Amino acid sequence: MRTIAAFDRIGEENAFAVLARAGALAAEGRDIINLGIGQPDFETPAHIVEAAVKALRDGYHGYTPATGILPLRVAVAADIQRRLSVEISPERVLVVPGGKVTMFAAILMFGAPGVDILYPDPGFPIYRSMIEFTGARPVPVPIREENGFAFSAEEALSLMTPATRLVILNSPANPTGGVTPRAEIEALVAGLAARPDIAVLSDEIYGQLTYDGAEHVSLLEFPEIRDRVILLDGASKTYAMTGWRLGWSVWPDGLYDKARKLAVNAWSCVNAATQWAGVAALNGPQDCVAEMAAAFDNRRRIVVDRLNALPGIACAKPKGAFYAFPNISATGWAAKDLAAALLEKGGVATIGGPDFGVCGEGYIRVSYAASRKDIERAITRIDNFLGRNSP
Ligand code: PLP
Repeated sequence: MRTIAAFDRIGEENAFAVLARAGALAAEGRDIINLGIGQPDFETPAHIVEAAVKALRDGYHGYTPATGILPLRVAVAADIQRRLSVEISPERVLVVPGGKVTMFAAILMFGAPGVDILYPDPGFPIYRSMIEFTGARPVPVPIREENGFAFSAEEALSLMTPATRLVILNSPANPTGGVTPRAEIEALVAGLAARPDIAVLSDEIYGQLTYDGAEHVSLLEFPEIRDRVILLDGASKTYAMTGWRLGWSVWPDGLYDKARKLAVNAWSCVNAATQWAGVAALNGPQDCVAEMAAAFDNRRRIVVDRLNALPGIACAKPKGAFYAFPNISATGWAAKDLAAALLEKGGVATIGGPDFGVCGEGYIRVSYAASRKDIERAITRIDNFLGRNSP
C-alpha cells in the first residue's frame, strides 16, 4: 500500500531495536548485559504502585478529562513551584501518555515544509524523526565534548534563519549526560528576545538527575519567553515509571487549547489509574527520587573510572541523566560497528553514537541505569572484547 511520503521519512529509536535483539539473543541462551536502553532498573516505589491499585479498586475505570485529572495537574504545578520556584496555573498543564508525546505534539504544531527546527545532535532520535515527518528542515545544533556536552547558545543563535519556528533543548541530556549551564541558557533567552516568532521545546525529563553540584536550569524560569516555552517532563525517569506511560507538559496559554484538541483526537486521556499513581508520586515522599539519584551517581563514578582504564577509550564525566558517552575513536572502531560487535560477540548492549545524530560518530552510549554488578561485568567484557578483536 502506498502511504503519504511522511511515513517514508519517519525514523525510530534504535534503543528499542537493540532491546529486541538483546532479548532475542538471551532467548537463545546467550548471557547479555543490557546497557542499551535508557530506563531505571529500579521498580516503581511501592506507594506509587499502591495508589494505582487503589484507584482501580475504587472504580476509576472511565475516561478522565483529556487534559488529565485536576489533582494531577495541581500536583504538577505544585512540583514546579517547589523545585523551580515558578508559579504556573494547573490550567496550563497537560497530562500525556509519556514524555515523548509532548515532543510529538510540539513538533507537529510547528513543523511543515519551509520551516526550520533546531534540535541537539547528538540528541534523542525522535526529535529529528518527527521533524522529518512534518516536512520541516531539521537543523542540528552540534553538542560538543569540548563544551562539556552543553548546548551552545551562540551556535544555536547562529543557525537560526528567518524560517526557524522551533528550537529544542534537552538538559540534562540524552545521550551525553551533558548539563547546560545557566549562563548558556541566559544567552539563548537573550538572543530569543529578537525572535518572538520562535517557540522553545525544553525537554527536562532528566531534570532531577544532576551530579557534582550541577544545576538544572528550567526554561520556565524566564518570564520574558514564558509565552512560548513548552516544557516536557514526566514520571518515566524520575520515578522509575517508563512502562506506565505518564508524562506532562506545560504549554503557553496560546498553545494549550491546540494541544488539548490533539489529545482529544489521538488518545482521549491517560490511563486513569496511572494518573492517580502520578498524584502519589508527586505529592508523596520524595526520598525515593534522592535515593535513586544517589545510586546513579555511585554507578556513574564506577562507569567513568572503569571505562577510562580501557585502551582507546576516553570518557568525560557526565553531569546528569544516567548515560556515559565515551569517546571511542582511538580504538579505531566506527561507533555503530563497535556497538553491534559488542552485542553480538561481547555480550553487552550499548548504542552507537550515530543513532543519536551525525555528531555522535566516535562515541557509544552506555546507560548506567543497571546494577553495579552488571556494570562491572559489562565493562570487563568490553575490555576483553577490545583486547581480542580489532576493527
Ligand atoms: N526525552 C528524552 C531526552 C528521553 O531520553 C526520553 C526517553 O528516553 C524521553 C524524552 C521520553 O520519555 P518517555 O519514556 O516518558 O516517553
